[in-house]
Amino acid sequence: MQIKEENGKCLEVATVLEQVDLGSGYYLLILRSPRIAAATHAGQFLLMSVRRSDDASSDPLLRRPFSILGCGPARGTLELLYRVVGTGTRLMPRLEVGEEVSLVGPLGNGWPGTEGDVVLVAGGVGMPPLLYLAEELSGDGRAMTLFYGACSVSHLHLLDRFEQAGVDVRLATDDGSAGHHGSCVHALEKWLDKRGVQGASFFGCGPHGMLAAFAKLTEQRGLRAFVSLEAPMACGIGVCRGCAVPMRDGTYRMVCSDGPIFTTDEVSFE
Ligand SMILES: Cc1cc2nc3c(=O)[nH]c(=O)nc-3n(C[C@H](O)[C@H](O)[C@H](O)COP(=O)(O)OP(=O)(O)OC[C@H]3O[C@@H](n4cnc5c(N)ncnc54)[C@H](O)[C@@H]3O)c2cc1C
Repeated sequence: MQIKEENGKCLEVATVLEQVDLGSGYYLLILRSPRIAAATHAGQFLLMSVRRSDDASSDPLLRRPFSILGCGPARGTLELLYRVVGTGTRLMPRLEVGEEVSLVGPLGNGWPGTEGDVVLVAGGVGMPPLLYLAEELSGDGRAMTLFYGACSVSHLHLLDRFEQAGVDVRLATDDGSAGHHGSCVHALEKWLDKRGVQGASFFGCGPHGMLAAFAKLTEQRGLRAFVSLEAPMACGIGVCRGCAVPMRDGTYRMVCSDGPIFTTDEVSFE
């Protein structure tokens, strides 16, 4: 296994241990990657070459970013949940058990430490860093509630993992096929209307529009909230500046090295 290490980030050749087709274009990929697994915290991500390490072609050239869904440091395993959307992710379902892929990670800052109850708000394939957080916090006595939305029930995955972590799971679908008929942020709003939430922290990850609505709602209610942002990126370490996102103070910050976690009141969602 080739390993290079710099500033806590590893370039590691990982081995595919398992790949599970979850349906509707979603896959669970389990990799053996001991060095990255040992250094990872919930909310961090990695860059993955979607080609096998012995593939001589250079297309696609760039590694793709994926949040870490879970990790087993003792066993040296990492889990990713990905959705097939384009050139790179279309190649990933072909990866077979025993094949090797090149990773760089862990990258970015993890979720901040908080006290008190937590409310998780996930849109579609934004769910992975929230499952990791729920599993990390599981058993420490705080109440955890998840609002998990997608276009349809077939796009909602690994609900049993949230339940096993002690999370109260509330679903929302655009087509009404499960849970609240509408967005997960609207479901959250209705829930907040019915009950007072004191001292809780709110964590969101999902599409830009969903996060904008989440930021607006939590700000209106004076709630402490964090988002994990996504942006197309190349280097993953803040050098190429490809993933710059605007902040409310007029500056730009890098999703890869300043984020992907930000407080909702620092990001400009316009
Ligand atoms: C920090 C971070 C964490 C992520 N975590 C996950 C994850 O856990 N699971 C998962 O499935 N995906 C995740 N993504 C998104 C994933 O990186 C992209 O879906 C992937 O790079 C697309 O590669 P592709 O070659 O298949 O698509 P391309 O052929 O490159 O593009 C296909 C379409 O997807 C759009 N796109 C590409 N990259 C992104 C992006 N980063 N954000 C928004 N739109 C994009 C393109 O504009 C285009 O419309 C994450 C992205 C970031 C930045």
